[in-house]
Amino acid sequence: MAKKKLVVLSGAGISAESGLKTFRDGDGLWENYRPEEVASPEAWAQDPGRVLRFYNERRAQVLAAVPNAAHIGLAALEAYYEVIIVTQNIDDLHERAGSKHVLHLHGEILKMKSERPSDWLQEIRGAIHLGDRAPDGAQLRPHVVWFGEAVPQMEAAIPHMETADVFILVGSSLAVYPAANLIDFVAEEVPKYLVDPAIPPISYGRNFYRIEQKATVGIPYLVELLSKA
Ligand code: NAD
Repeated sequence: MAKKKLVVLSGAGISAESGLKTFRDGDGLWENYRPEEVASPEAWAQDPGRVLRFYNERRAQVLAAVPNAAHIGLAALEAYYEVIIVTQNIDDLHERAGSKHVLHLHGEILKMKSERPSDWLQEIRGAIHLGDRAPDGAQLRPHVVWFGEAVPQMEAAIPHMETADVFILVGSSLAVYPAANLIDFVAEEVPKYLVDPAIPPISYGRNFYRIEQKATVGIPYLVELLSKA
């Protein structure tokens, strides 16, 4: 029998217990910066060196982090479900936990690209410096989606939302658009589990189940529940 399809939308909160900070917890800052100051085309135009330094630090942090029980639990669900992870995170902790189908809405910090539009992408584990050039001669930048930039992976994510049999939202404030709209594409009758210690106060329809817990508590609980369903 074909496995049921489990679609997960994850946000920064799932990686919080791996030591990677979210940006809407508490002070609204992302590692001491206002997100627009380091994650926007305007910030890049004004001070690319600062933007590169910010992401070089994030890259080093990601490489030092390890997946937690929530990333590992979602990967374990592949024994029972066809699992598609749609993540807003730029880290690679889902992949390192063993998840095979991960779609990064906001790019990947371990990849770099040209500041000019092109399809060229390359892995990077070290730092990007001002003056480092892509094959087209333009400055290198991290492969991340900044505020105000298009989110090309939305088109790939929507059909997964529409065909989910089970849905999990974990660790997202649902404050970043268009990613937050994805939840609206999940059919009404589909069971939807929300895992977050502070579930965002938006209006939910039928079949929503709130698990107001940290990801490392809520996801292992769900793994127990869903592996027996
Ligand atoms: P957000 O920072 O807006 O919201 C984080 C959510 O996680 C909140 O609802 C909070 O209550 C919840 N949370 C905090 N600790 C948690 C825990 N231990 N377990 C479960 N949930 C927890 O995050 P967002 O909605 O993903 O938007 C942030 C944007 O910033 C994303 O677009 C992402 O690209 C970027 N970002 C990425 C990373 C990363 O890659 N790890 C880290 C910070 C920011």
